[in-house]
Amino acid sequence: MAIKLNSFAKEKIRNAFLVPDYYKHFSCKGGECRDSCCADWKVTIPMDQYFLLHGLSCNKNVKEKIDRTFRPLFNTTPERYAEIVHTQDGDCPLHKKDGYCLLHETCGEEVLPWVCRYYPRGPRIDYAFEASCANSCEKTLELLLENDEILKFETINLSFLMKKTQKEISIIQKHIYIKVRDNCFKLLSDRKYSLALRILHLGIYLKSLESNIEIKITDLDFSLVQETKDVNSTYLKLFEIFSNFNGRFPRLVNLLEEVKMIYENHDIEEIYQNNLQHFEDIFTNNEIMFEKMLINDLFFKQFPFQPNLSFFDQFISICGSFMLLRYLSINLMWNKSFQEDLIDILSRTFTVISHSEFDRQLLNYLEKAGLNNMFELSKILFI
Ligand code: SF4
Repeated sequence: MAIKLNSFAKEKIRNAFLVPDYYKHFSCKGGECRDSCCADWKVTIPMDQYFLLHGLSCNKNVKEKIDRTFRPLFNTTPERYAEIVHTQDGDCPLHKKDGYCLLHETCGEEVLPWVCRYYPRGPRIDYAFEASCANSCEKTLELLLENDEILKFETINLSFLMKKTQKEISIIQKHIYIKVRDNCFKLLSDRKYSLALRILHLGIYLKSLESNIEIKITDLDFSLVQETKDVNSTYLKLFEIFSNFNGRFPRLVNLLEEVKMIYENHDIEEIYQNNLQHFEDIFTNNEIMFEKMLINDLFFKQFPFQPNLSFFDQFISICGSFMLLRYLSINLMWNKSFQEDLIDILSRTFTVISHSEFDRQLLNYLEKAGLNNMFELSKILFI
C-alpha cells in the first residue's frame, strides 16, 4: 500500500456542472481501446506533481518504474516540468497489458497526475462550471455518434480536484459567454442549411460580435453567403498548407502522406469525386456526425472565448479544423466502410486539434495562403 505524502490536487471543487448528454455514460474502454491515450502521446506534468510522485513510498519495483517513467524536461516551467518517457513501442511504461494503469492500481487514483486522472474529461470553472469529454478519445466519439439527435446539455453534480481559477471574470462577462456560445451552437445546429453554410453564418455572427457584443442573430443578414467550390485549385492549396505540418504535428504526418499518395499523378477532381461518393454512400448522416463533433469540440474549448484569439481568428480556425477533418475522412475512407475506421481517423486528428497549439498554428498557415476572408474560406468549407 502506498503512503501518500500529499495530494496533488489544490482543492476539491464540488458544483453543478453543465455537461453534454453523453457525459454521464462515459467510461474508459481500458484494454479494449484501439488507440489508447497512454500510448504515443507527449504527456507533461507540473512540478508539484512530479515531486509528489517521487516522494511516494510503495513497492520497490513499482517505485523504480515510476521514477523512470517521469523525466524532467530541459526547459522546465512550474506547469510543464516533466514528461513521460515512453517505451520503445511508444507506450507509457506504467500502462499494463490489460489496459489498466500500474500507478493507479498500486497507489490509488489520488496520486495520478491530473492529465491521467481526468482525461478525456475537461472540467472548466472560470466562465462557467462546465465539463465535457475530448473528441480525441474514441469512446467519446462512439457515444457522440450513437444517435443523430442534436447534442443536448444538462446539469449534473460533479466534483474535481483542481486549482481554483486565477482569472477574474465578472458576472457580466459570464453572462455574455453563455449567451454568445448558445447563439453559436444555435447557428451550427440549424439543420435547414448545409453544415458548410452554417459555419459561414457563424462567421458572420462572430465578425459582427467584434463591433457589437450584444448583437442578436435575428438582426444579421445571412443572404449573401453562397456556395463556392473549386476542387482542383483548393486541393493544390491544401497540399501546400499541409506540407507545413511535417515535424510540427507528427501524429498527423502519416495520415496526410497517405492522402497525398492517393492523389499523386492522378486527376484530383476525379479521385475526389470517387472518394466523396463512397464516403457519402457509407455515412449518409455524415453532416450530422461532423456537426456533433464540432459542437462537442467547441464546448470543450470554451469557444469563442479561447485566450489570445479574436472572434474572427477562432472562426478561421474552425473552418480549418472542419476542412481537415473532412479532407482526412473522405480520402482515407476510400477503401474502408466501418464506423470504427472513421473513428480511428477522427480521434487521432482530434489529438492535434484539441490538445495542441493547432488553432493558432493553422491560423498562421491559412492566413499565409490567403484563406482569411469569408469568400476564400467558403472554398475550403464546401469541398
Ligand atoms: S482513449 Fe479514451 S477509451 Fe481509450 S484508453 Fe484513453 S480514456 Fe480510455
